[in-house]
Amino acid sequence: MAQGVILKDVNKVYPNGFHAVYDFNIEIQKGEFIVLCGPSGCGKSTTLRMIAGLEEISSGELIINNKKVNNVAPADRDIAMVFQNYALYAHMTVYHNMAFSLTIRKIDPVEIHARVMKAADILGLIPYLNRKPKQLSGGQRQRVALGRAIVRNPIVFLLDEPLSNLDAKLRGSMRKELMQLHERLNTTFIYVTHDQVEALTLATRIVVMKDGYVKQIAAPKEMFDKPEDLFVAGFIGTPPMNIIDGTIDPALEYFTHDATGVQLKLTEHQSEILGSYAGKQVKFGIRPEYVYIDEKSLAKFKDSTVHMSIDYTEYLGAYNLIYAKFGEDQFIGKVTERNQIEVTEADFALDMEKAHFFDVETTKRIR
Ligand code: ATP
Repeated sequence: MAQGVILKDVNKVYPNGFHAVYDFNIEIQKGEFIVLCGPSGCGKSTTLRMIAGLEEISSGELIINNKKVNNVAPADRDIAMVFQNYALYAHMTVYHNMAFSLTIRKIDPVEIHARVMKAADILGLIPYLNRKPKQLSGGQRQRVALGRAIVRNPIVFLLDEPLSNLDAKLRGSMRKELMQLHERLNTTFIYVTHDQVEALTLATRIVVMKDGYVKQIAAPKEMFDKPEDLFVAGFIGTPPMNIIDGTIDPALEYFTHDATGVQLKLTEHQSEILGSYAGKQVKFGIRPEYVYIDEKSLAKFKDSTVHMSIDYTEYLGAYNLIYAKFGEDQFIGKVTERNQIEVTEADFALDMEKAHFFDVETTKRIR
């Protein structure tokens, strides 16, 4: 696979015996934007650092551009890494920060100049080439850090939470710039973040990790619509998926909420896939996006409408988040009504076509 990156059964056990990454497997094609995502401590930085060569691989194989590189030094791996704390050289100008790694590699100065000017042009840094880092904004500094990576013409860019030091607004605009940069360079990006919004907006494929294990690898839409298990369902998407405990009736027609006895009619497809769960407990999940309060939806989804009390409503301009109670369970609806909602109870229509069921024991989505 030309210019691809392959991890085969990669494990990391730190010298103190801590097993940080278990059997990581992925084949990354040239030009993909892979986002490694998961809560703090899940092993995403360790994985990135193993690809970079900053951390030894305990077992398994790392292949870059058809070559096993487990024992190849970082500088010889055709990769460039951008860190969170971009670590620019304070005493050097923007130009020299970008040129530095090429200078120490003794590359021809004419070639260096051409590469720095090209990167500066791509990143909009030409007006700042003579400035020192302290004379730049946070976003501009982050662009210089990207520039230092670009001039090296790597096969793979590795980025470790590169936007986490920026404020929310700047993060948004840098996200867009990163997407454009990725398109323009047509190079593989492997990006680490704990922010699932970054993952959903940037990735061609997301890898969700937990406790050192890969939980799911999928494109953003698939990850959102078809989460592999309860963990992914809760991690991807804000607010998270609503999860309710209940039982499938023996005739496979209804899901009954244990605490209230409220019944939701299953779709034909759900009756089929839930065959072996007749009379058994399951977890029901529905995203706040598929909960409605308008008259038309209430009529359309009359077999899966639930009356709930409302704790409070967050008015967010384009939509409202309604925090309700399904029995004692918190239940969130993300509704497009633009007016503030002032009632204390309401009927909520659930689109059962978009609902999921999860196995209580394995936590896997039933399909
Ligand atoms: P964060 O978002 O907090 O950076 P992460 O998912 O990137 O988290 P890693 O930095 O990869 O997590 O760490 C994974 C696990 O390995 C953590 O439990 C961490 O404590 C442990 N770990 C990291 N470095 C070492 C080390 N040198 N020795 C032992 N354990 C380590």
